[in-house]
Amino acid sequence: MNAFDPEALGARAYAMIAELAAISAEPKRLIRQFLTPEHRRAADLVASWMQRAGLAVSEDALGTLRGRFGTSRRRLLIGSHIDTVIDAGKYDGPLGVIAGIIAAEPFARSKAKLPFGIDVLAFGDEEGSRFPATMTSSSACAGVFETAALTGADANGVTLAAALRAYGKMSQDIAAAAYRPQDAAAYVEVHIEQGPVLEAKGEPLGVVTGIVGQSRLRVTVTGEAGHAGTVPMELRHDAFAGTAEMTLALEKIAREHPEDGMVGTVGRIEALPGAVNIVPGRAVFTVDLRSLTDELRLAAVARFTAETQAIAAARGLKIAIENFHEVATAHCAPALQNALAASVTECGHNAIRLPSGAGHDAQIMSRLCPAAMLFVRCRGGISHNPAEFASVSDMGVAIAALIRFIEKFQPG
Ligand SMILES: [Zn+2]
Repeated sequence: MNAFDPEALGARAYAMIAELAAISAEPKRLIRQFLTPEHRRAADLVASWMQRAGLAVSEDALGTLRGRFGTSRRRLLIGSHIDTVIDAGKYDGPLGVIAGIIAAEPFARSKAKLPFGIDVLAFGDEEGSRFPATMTSSSACAGVFETAALTGADANGVTLAAALRAYGKMSQDIAAAAYRPQDAAAYVEVHIEQGPVLEAKGEPLGVVTGIVGQSRLRVTVTGEAGHAGTVPMELRHDAFAGTAEMTLALEKIAREHPEDGMVGTVGRIEALPGAVNIVPGRAVFTVDLRSLTDELRLAAVARFTAETQAIAAARGLKIAIENFHEVATAHCAPALQNALAASVTECGHNAIRLPSGAGHDAQIMSRLCPAAMLFVRCRGGISHNPAEFASVSDMGVAIAALIRFIEKFQPG
């Protein structure tokens, strides 16, 4: 059996993905959040794989595992994340980490003489499913970690700072997690597409042109709680009814730029006090707005802000809007895109070019060094769902293409 046979590579990847997927906070669904006991167990398993592949393992102050090959200062970084959303699929994140380990292994085992070293990175906080901030692990590696994120708390009131301490990490070591820009030659990430484009085109792999920017807001609407039976409609200051109108305003704004891939979502709403017979006096909701062009997205945020203020004024409500997450569009490096596309072609497939509507660690890493992504076809475009699926052969072709990419990579 050829060691670079896609079927064999894919079968190995699948076995590892299945083993990692067994590590969860709950037996019946996959939940692996940042800095939890499950994260620890997953990281220990990944570390053992890295060691077996001949990589030297270390872990930084945000829990990012690094599997290192070679002593060259210039590093090719290959990574993805091992945290998950709630009730997740098993491929989103782990595939990229495992692809990196399997692809680095032949170079590490043969002690290949390359003009660069390889670091395989397993980030722990990409999904943002525990703390308000997301991608804090890749931010630390890229040297763009914002210390304000440390005070953000999870649903149980545990701050990121406290969770890091409990995980055995020291906040004062975060700065040391950053790569020096002159050492980071490139960052490459393999990931399931999380969309339907590759399946529709009948191709296993796609080269990502850019990752859409994202704005996330938290809106607090304050009205006046009252008896649901005795307060007449015209005298109400219903915080939730205002929220509903604001949600529709967002939908209208986001629909105006389909050509730019703009999408807007209110994904979380809390109405208080939350009783069947009380007019809600307070509502808190989140807004997630994405698009390929930063200017259009920021203009949409400004318009949403103005329209919600007008809605609040008309209803006698007070609002506070907090922009808690802002990531600019990241354009993938053209030279890396071309190199990935050439590797895909050598593996016998057409390299489809496509943008990413989902956020990825590559978006953050592109602030450190040239970055690129290789997408793998997934069934029905489904992700963040237990039905998430990528075939063994598609994953194998991705790893084969990654190995070819490493063989020809020039650190510049
Ligand atoms: Zn992911």
